[in-house]
Amino acid sequence: MSGEKKLRTAAVILAAGSGKRMGSNTKKQYMLIAGKPIIYYPLKTFQESFVDEIVLVVSPGDIAYCKKEIVERYGFSKVRHIVEGGKERYHSVAIGLDHINSCEFVFIHDGARPVVTKDILERALCCVREFKACVVGMPVKDTIKIADKEGFIASTPDRKLVWTIQTPQVFSLPLIKEAYHSLMQKEKALLKEGLSVTDDAMVVETLTGHPVRLVYGSYENIKITTPEDIQIAENFLFPAK
Ligand code: C5P
Repeated sequence: MSGEKKLRTAAVILAAGSGKRMGSNTKKQYMLIAGKPIIYYPLKTFQESFVDEIVLVVSPGDIAYCKKEIVERYGFSKVRHIVEGGKERYHSVAIGLDHINSCEFVFIHDGARPVVTKDILERALCCVREFKACVVGMPVKDTIKIADKEGFIASTPDRKLVWTIQTPQVFSLPLIKEAYHSLMQKEKALLKEGLSVTDDAMVVETLTGHPVRLVYGSYENIKITTPEDIQIAENFLFPAK
């Protein structure tokens, strides 16, 4: 990026989930990989990147712990705010975005994806500069089937066009603010219509109509969801020599 104007970028890192599918008393974002909490790894990648500021969104009651045991302990100086998230992921995103005002682009990242890399952040930045909205993902390896309600195959999409979606999801600040503002205003009606919001691209697609570009993440950029994912992420973070 030498010679180009440095664009101000921010990140919302989400760690306010309950991690029920983990089946553990410790919330998944604080479970350990090589002696450090899972949330340490994405924070480290963002801290060492071009991103200028970070808003960390945590569960109610976890602010003091995260400030002392994670942000201060590991010197994550780019974390400007630690805030309590909401009931659903999209509530947590909306709260995080409320704390970001002066930047061109926002990276929204699941704290449960510890294997995000500098290269992924750089690819996403290049892409969002061009398209204003992009999400990281990978083409599927398996054939995907759409099922009907009775459990039969209804259709088979062309595998070349099917991607699994990861984070970060990256947007121009005015676009993502507009999308979330509109979502929060229309939330009740949209939920009644059956909308289930599982990522930020959906919010932008549905509420603004702005096209969202896909950009390559990596097959290693997994989300920790169930206990076996911890070992898999550890192998990716610390590959055997
Ligand atoms: O539940 P799921 O694994 O899809 O969550 C994805 C990310 O969103 C996780 O990092 C989780 O901590 C975060 N999250 C949140 N607030 C919620 C629910 C999930 O910050 N209410």
